[in-house]
Parts: sequence; C-alpha cells; structure tokens
Amino acid sequence: MPSFDLFRIGHSNMPAERFVSTTAESSRAECRSGEEMMLVPVRLFLILLLAAAGPALAQDAGTLEDKPLPPLAHPDSPSVPAKELFARKTKPVPLAARSIGFYASGCLAGAVALPINGSTWQVMRLSRNRNWGHPKLVAFLERLAEKAKKAGWNGLLVGDMSQPRGGPMLTGHASHQVGLDADIWLTPMPDRTLSPEEREFMSATSMVREDRLDVDPKVWTHERTELIRTAAQDPDVERIFVNAAIKKALCREARPDRDWLAKVRPWWGHDYHFHVRIFCPPDSPQCKPQPEPPPGDGCGHDLDYWFSEGVLHPAPPVEPAKPKPSLTLANLPAACRQVLMAP
Ligand SMILES: [Zn+2]
Repeated sequence: MPSFDLFRIGHSNMPAERFVSTTAESSRAECRSGEEMMLVPVRLFLILLLAAAGPALAQDAGTLEDKPLPPLAHPDSPSVPAKELFARKTKPVPLAARSIGFYASGCLAGAVALPINGSTWQVMRLSRNRNWGHPKLVAFLERLAEKAKKAGWNGLLVGDMSQPRGGPMLTGHASHQVGLDADIWLTPMPDRTLSPEEREFMSATSMVREDRLDVDPKVWTHERTELIRTAAQDPDVERIFVNAAIKKALCREARPDRDWLAKVRPWWGHDYHFHVRIFCPPDSPQCKPQPEPPPGDGCGHDLDYWFSEGVLHPAPPVEPAKPKPSLTLANLPAACRQVLMAP
C-alpha cells in the first residue's frame, strides 16, 4: 500500500480514493480531488461530495450563451446547497483578500481575476467565470507563465481557478473553494489570441497512453516535465496533482535534483491538465493548510497502487450510487456567510 498521506479512512486501510473509485464518476474524476483532502472530520462527507459533483473537465466544452442561472425558490432555506448560492455570485466581495476554510470547504473574500489574456497565458472556458483567486494565486500564475516560457513552454492555458467568492461549484471540483487552486492545461498556448469559440470548445489533449500505464509517447514531451518542475519548485506551491502515469514520467525524467517530486501527487483524472495548489497566505488566518506530503519522491513502488488491476479496471458498483448530500452554508466556516451575503 502506498502512502496515501491524507487519505486514510480511520478504521480501514482502504484509502479514500477507493471509495471514490467505486462511483460512477470515478473514471472522469477531474479535480474533484478529494485530492487533497482531507481533514478528518469532514473527510467522509467530502468523499461523498466528490462523487456528487458533476463533470466540468478541461476537455468539456463551455458555452457562448450568456444565460444567468434562474433565481432560487428558497435561497434562505438552510438546506439549499452552498454551491447553488455561490454559483449565483458573479462579482467578488471588495474586501481585503482572505482565503477562508479548507481547499474543499471554504470561500474567498477580496478575489482578483487573472486577466484573460497575458503575454504568456490565456484563460480558457470564460463562460464558467472561474478565473478568480487570492492575489497570491494570480501572482503565482503570472510568475509561472513567464518562467515556463523561459523553460521552453510557449505559454499557459489556464482552466478553472475559483468562483468570484470561492465556495463549492455546481460542476467539476471538490476543491478550488478558497482561491488557492488552479488547473493548467498540458497543452501549450498557441502563438495567437484564441477566439471566444476556441476558448469554450477547444479540447485539451490527454497525455496518458491507452493502457493507462504510462504517458503517451505520441504527445508527451520533456517540456511538460520542465513545466511541472518549474511550478513545483515555486516556494508558494504546496501540492501539484497529476495522473499517476504522468507522475511516473516525471520520476523517470527528473534530473538528480528530485526534491520537487514530493509535492507532485498522483490522483484520478488529471490526464489533460495538472492542478496546482498554493499554501495558505499569511493574510488568511482562517485558511486551513494541508499537512506536508510524506517524505520521499513518491516514485517507484509508491506508484504501484495506481497501476494495480483494481484501480486501472475498477469493478462496477454493486448498487447504483445514491444521491449524495451537498455542502450547505452551515458546513462552511461562519465567515463564508458574510462573504456570500455581502453586496
Ligand atoms: Zn483542479
């Protein structure tokens, strides 16, 4: 059994991922990464939540229609899922920047937007309005885009960050709630400004070989290793999540300096993009950090679990999954109510 740092369920050695992988969503689990997870008290709840999140994968198309969500019939009801409330907030709270809560259970005040066009990045899927983050995340992405360009990567295509006030999302992620997570495509930015249509409908490319045991040599290049290494070596970065086949390739291609590999963790999905998580910023006392990754580079036999038969070809669930509970406002830190209600 590999070290599943944060994922172990109290009474069992079965890592939380196995619970996730028995759900119908598992094979497409993008960044609904329990990843990441999890603080013990909310662990199981969040695992259930993972399974409930609808897909919004990097390669899933967006829309060009400007259609606001319909008003909620009972927005003040305590049972309203928090994702319904946060998804209806299209503007940030103009307060000092603060990440509140845990990556998979929190919200964000004072968010800033990553501009949709930079000299070394472009934002994808603009219809999702998820290019918001803590200013530290935006600064990190701008810094990474420039460093990556110098390392031979033409520019970043940036996928989901957070909603304007953070919080749970209607589709796609368990985390990304506090403005400190960002998805970056493993497809380089082209040498032109993408059209609105391309940003919604262009597909990312899977880096994983058909048998799921390694990267696809037809598309994988060493520049991708350099890109992920560059991100992992940034002192603000706490974790990076990639598909296990990608982690295997990074282990193979890393040079003698391998310390950065410890931050790069395998997780379901993440075939098309990698997910960067930065540390809780000093201005955010209510931000809950994630414990350090286990020692070692996480290569070799640490990856065996991910290439085992049960993970590569999970048995279908015995019974259809029951509808899963959603986080409500009461499940989030109390300050998130103020963030939500602020004008
Ligand atoms: Zn993500």
